[in-house]
Formats: sequence, structure tokens, C-alpha cells
Amino acid sequence: MTIRENPIKIIATLGPASDSKSVLKKLIDTGADVFRLNFSHGTHEEKRELVEKIREVNDYISILADIQGPKIRVGKFRDDQAYILNVGQTIDVFEHEIEGGGDDKKFAIPLPGFVKSMKKGDFFYVNDGIIKIKVKSRERDHLIGEVIAGGLISNNKGVNIPSGDLEQKVPTEKDIKDLEFIADLDPEYVAISFVSSGDDVLTVKKLLENYGNNDIKLISKIERPIALDNFDQILEVSDGIMIARGDLGVEISPDQVPIRQKELIYKCNKEGKPVIVATQMLESMTNTPVPTRAEANDIYNAVIDGTDSVMLSAETAVGKYPINSVEYMNKIASTASEHAPIRHPDDYDSDRLTHTQTLGHAIHSLAKEMEELNFRGKILVITRRGYGARMISKFRPPLPIIAMTPFKRTARELQLIWGVQPIHIESIDFFQLDAESLIEQSVKYGVETGYLDENEHVVILLVSRKFQKRGNLVGLYYVGEILSPEE
Ligand code: PEP
Repeated sequence: MTIRENPIKIIATLGPASDSKSVLKKLIDTGADVFRLNFSHGTHEEKRELVEKIREVNDYISILADIQGPKIRVGKFRDDQAYILNVGQTIDVFEHEIEGGGDDKKFAIPLPGFVKSMKKGDFFYVNDGIIKIKVKSRERDHLIGEVIAGGLISNNKGVNIPSGDLEQKVPTEKDIKDLEFIADLDPEYVAISFVSSGDDVLTVKKLLENYGNNDIKLISKIERPIALDNFDQILEVSDGIMIARGDLGVEISPDQVPIRQKELIYKCNKEGKPVIVATQMLESMTNTPVPTRAEANDIYNAVIDGTDSVMLSAETAVGKYPINSVEYMNKIASTASEHAPIRHPDDYDSDRLTHTQTLGHAIHSLAKEMEELNFRGKILVITRRGYGARMISKFRPPLPIIAMTPFKRTARELQLIWGVQPIHIESIDFFQLDAESLIEQSVKYGVETGYLDENEHVVILLVSRKFQKRGNLVGLYYVGEILSPEE
């Protein structure tokens, strides 16, 4: 096996364009590491069948189940038609469905409390921010709005209300039902939409625990201004972060998105928690086989910002070119990684240093030194739960990282982590061997499977057998010598 060159992990959202075994296989072959199941669409039965298909195609891919959260949508329109709202026109907006459906004079946002939560001068957006409506007045049962930016409106289009103080509870009733199903489905990750506080994350964690699953890792989607305000507490209780720019980009001014993206990525990197940059990365490829140059720039910059992974949504779920999209994403991320400046590890030490993090820092320095001395080599981390691998990856060392683990779950989880090549090994008894025998057997396995080369050096990190809580061993070895030690 060769180690892939692109250290950036790719998440592909699945949908009608990508749910056949042949497309799933091609997506993996072109570079997808994680598949996202979007619980805003489809039935539980469909999701279960899809997971079975994924596992049959590749048992080591990671699965991310994304729950919908309190996504607000417009109601139904007359004859299920689309209508045009023009700039300057007025529009009546009700909080209950309108008999016969809405049209270009009136429509519904069926959400109790919506009208009361808005006041004159507030704005809200429809259809991914394309339509902007300003509240002119609040009547007894509806709002009168002025269309500031016009466009097409039709059934169920998404609504964003950044200014209202409407309470949006996370998780919703639908999320709770989905979480019960997800606890049984057992993906590696759940993404929680519209998180507003650390408590939202803890509520989801508790629910999954009550449904009997303590293993699933939680990714908080940052898509509301309040999540930016509460980011530190959200990060503390989350296993990872998604910068969900679709909704975030509507709820905050577009010029704020790049700077927020950089801030959030840096904070995640410092804590060694995976971060995903999501949405509209190759939006034009939903309909065309090549990206725009601006999209190439967007992926490139996310990589330079320090993201672990980049995500495709409509491009792979419903787009015409799912495979080309992954191919381009892989290529652009790969080129960006080659040009990414080397990290100064001091800038990435967490305020709460652990022994393993300190060793991650030291391994970065060692790897850099080896590179300068022209020592060919790799980093090998022998890990149970993946923590050691994350603590090495966060410093972005200039050598490939191989993570060997006795647990399939850990191998799958590590698919999301920058630069880590996970390998699940069943044939080595990790729990009985002394440290040197474990090193010997792991390196031999690495050579047999082609991940390690006889003529290279290897920096090894493993948890001490004896002092497992805070003891880690780090060593620098020559692979050839491990294979045939001098008597
Ligand atoms: C987003 O808003 O960017 C996002 C990823 O969420 P969703 O696709 O679920 O709307």
C-alpha cells in the first residue's frame, strides 16, 4: 500500500447522485475519506441500506450522520409553483400555512412565535440568502415586509432569521427520533446542526448515551452568530467542528466569513480537534465538470488556514459530476498542501498541555530535523483511541503519519484527521506484548503491507505498557535494523 499524498481529508455528502455501489467505490478511489448522510432528506430505512452498501464497498470509510436541527423553512405555494419576488414590492408573511398555498403577495413561515419575535427594521432571508426581506410592520397575525433582494421562492425553501430572538431548540423532536435511530446505526460521527451552546452538545451526548451509544463522536456545526459568541464552550465539549458556511454565510455578513473561518480553524488546531470547512466549495460543479478559479482558491485557502478536511454537499449528493468534484477537490487540496508553510509548533500548543501533546510538539521538531538532514522517514503512532495520532497531526509535521490501532472504530475515526493514514491490525496482540516486541511487530507489519520501507527511519510514539495514564514512549529507529537486528 502506498500512503496517499494529500493529507487533507475529503467528506462527500451522499444523495441520489452517489448512492449506488459503483459510485461509492469511485468516490473512495478518487479520494473521499468520509461519507456524510444528511438527515434533512430521506427515510431511516434508506439510511440503513446506504450504510450497509458503504460497509460492503469499504469497511474503513468513516460515516458522519448530520442531523437537521431547527432549520426554518417557508410553507407551501399554490399548485407547488415557484414565484418571483421583486425588489421593492411588499409581501405578507404569516406564521401558519395559508389555505391554497402562498404566492407572490403572501407566503407562510410556519413557525409558532415567528411573527412576535420580529420587529420593524429586522431582516430575514429565504433560499440561502438570495431573497432578503425587511420588516415594515408587524400586524396581529402576520408581518408586512419589503423585498430588498428578490428572487425565486417555492415550497420549503430555507429561511434564516439572524436578527430575531426566536428560540431555536436543539435538538428538535425530529433530531431526537433520528438520534435514537443513529445510536443503533452507529456511525463514527454525528454532526449537530444549529448548535448554540455547549449545553446543546451535552444534551445530544446524553441522548445518545440513553439510547445505549457512548462511542459516537460529536461534531458541532457553527452556523449561527450565537455559536460564534459561545464558540469556546462549544469546542470544549465537542469532538470536532464544522464551519457550516451555507447558513453561517447568510446569518453573518459575507465579509466576516473568511476571518471567522481562520479564527475557528486556529482554535480547533490548537486543541487538536478536527475541523471541517463546508459548503459551496465547488458549488458550480453541481452542473459543470470543472470548477471556477474562485472555487479553487477557496479550497486552497481553507488548506492554508489549517483545516483537517473539506466537504462537498450538493456537488456529490445531487450534482451531475460527483466523481469529478472529488477529483478536483483532491487535486487542489494536494497542491495547496505542498505549498502550505511549515508550522511553528509553539503557536499551536494548547493552553492545557498534556504529555502526549508535548510529545506531538517534539515529534514535529524531530521530523523537521530529519527532513533537514535528508533522513527519509515516517512517523508511526501505535494508538488505541487515536489521541496520540491527533496530538501529532495538530502540529502538521513534515513526514507522513501512520496510525496503527487494534480497533476498527479508531481506524475509521482517524479518516477525518489531517495527514493520518489509519491501519487497523487484528494480527498483533497490542495488549500483551512488551513495548519493544510491539514496536518490532508493528514495523514488520508496516513493511509487509508496504506502508513502511526497509531503507527509512521511523519515529515511533506508543503508550507505555506500564504507565498508561501519562506515559508515552518516543523513539527514532531505522526500519532495516528492526527487520534484521545485529546479533
Ligand atoms: C451549511 O449550512 O453550511 C451546512 C453544512 O448545513 P446544511 O447543509 O445541513 O444546511
